[in-house]
Amino acid sequence: MGERTTCLVVGGGPAGMVLGLLLARAGVEVTVLEKHADFLRDFRGDTVHPSTLQLLDELGLGEEFARLPHTRVEQVVFPAGDGGSVTLGDFRRLRVRHPYIAMVPQWDLLDLLADAGRREPTYTLRMQTEMTDLVREGDRVTGVRYRTADGATGEIRADLTVACDGRHSVARRQAGLRPEEFPVPIDAWWFRVPRLPGDHPAALAPRAAPGRFAVVIPRETFLQVAYIGRKGADPELRARGIEAFRQDVAELIPEFRDRMDALASMDDVKHLDVRVDRLLRWHVDGLLCIGDAAHAMSPVGGVGINLAVQDAVATATLLAEPLRRGVVGPAELAAVRTRRLVPTVLVQTLQRALHRALVGPLVEGRRPGPPALALALVRRIPQLSVVPAYLIGVGLRPEHAPPFARRAPAHS
Ligand SMILES: Cc1cc2nc3c(=O)[nH]c(=O)nc-3n(C[C@H](O)[C@H](O)[C@H](O)COP(=O)(O)OP(=O)(O)OC[C@H]3O[C@@H](n4cnc5c(N)ncnc54)[C@H](O)[C@@H]3O)c2cc1C
Repeated sequence: MGERTTCLVVGGGPAGMVLGLLLARAGVEVTVLEKHADFLRDFRGDTVHPSTLQLLDELGLGEEFARLPHTRVEQVVFPAGDGGSVTLGDFRRLRVRHPYIAMVPQWDLLDLLADAGRREPTYTLRMQTEMTDLVREGDRVTGVRYRTADGATGEIRADLTVACDGRHSVARRQAGLRPEEFPVPIDAWWFRVPRLPGDHPAALAPRAAPGRFAVVIPRETFLQVAYIGRKGADPELRARGIEAFRQDVAELIPEFRDRMDALASMDDVKHLDVRVDRLLRWHVDGLLCIGDAAHAMSPVGGVGINLAVQDAVATATLLAEPLRRGVVGPAELAAVRTRRLVPTVLVQTLQRALHRALVGPLVEGRRPGPPALALALVRRIPQLSVVPAYLIGVGLRPEHAPPFARRAPAHS
């Protein structure tokens, strides 16, 4: 007798873990496959936005989340030419319960979601289980073949398979879905340096100089730096070596000059091939793509996790009942895309506009910093800093936990 479940979720990232939990709370039999042994992967996005924090409260997980080690980013502050600074985004102005971005290691968030899932009787999480192929009956996807870490293989059948396996999604490719790719002028490099007592504890600090750009993110014991440069420059950066890279960073952020020893070699500098892409159709019969598998986002605004989570909430909201009744057809799957398309397109359009008007010209050395007019305007009218804060922190169509997933906070 083959293995069977109602909903098979491929990939235990933010999208897959939220979807698994919510469907299980609806009483739907759900199995999540994750190819890695744990959620420990360095430099995945670690930003948890106000709308996701609110969702965690609605799920009764807010108090557990608050106990995780985290820092709070309340503002995006840009150094101005006169030695002062300009607050470009101010999350404290948002009328929400959590007016900040929580910086939390992504694995801690995923572990929390996994623990909550395991408390539901219809939930199964299978680590070290990699989906290798889709199983089909005619044109319909009816499950997947998998391989475990010890080489065992098997097959799981499901009424619905949801591809949450990220921007290089194998499930998507095998389903014959190809994303449209948009040109991107930048790549990102991530590294960390020690945090010192004088560092601003609660502000994201972007820095710009002709040809380069960086964002410094305060973490509990270190500073995480996203260094943005020209697309395709990774081989060149690595060939120039660590000393030249340390110099580049020290010129951009002079107060880091004495901390650059923290980078022993270019192995400490992780490259992110920035992509922006989007599927035209998010489903085929029996399979739906959400999160990065449906739309890879630029790191501008740090909204990838948030959108992946919102997709998962929308999917559970729309599909829990059809899954319980065993009637999930193409129309139900198409409804998920219809609900999530507008926020996705708007965010990607904004990101691409920022690539063209700001970040691209900066890294190509055509512009020394953000437009002086924009800085002057926000300085003059500080209330404007709520606009970027809202777009980043809350987004255009925040999803809320459906009634079946809500729980009172678990006190311990
Ligand atoms: C270096 C880096 C930094 C980033 N920084 C930020 C940030 O600061 N803020 C932000 O919001 N976003 C950031 N992002 C983007 C963010 O991580 C993604 O948008 C988000 O994680 C997407 O969630 P997801 O669940 O769709 O996919 P992923 O998080 O990519 O999860 C996919 C999961 O599927 C698993 N998987 C893949 N293939 C298989 C398979 N065949 N079988 C089983 N399991 C499989 C993977 O192991 C993974 O756990 C960053 C991304 C990178 C790479």
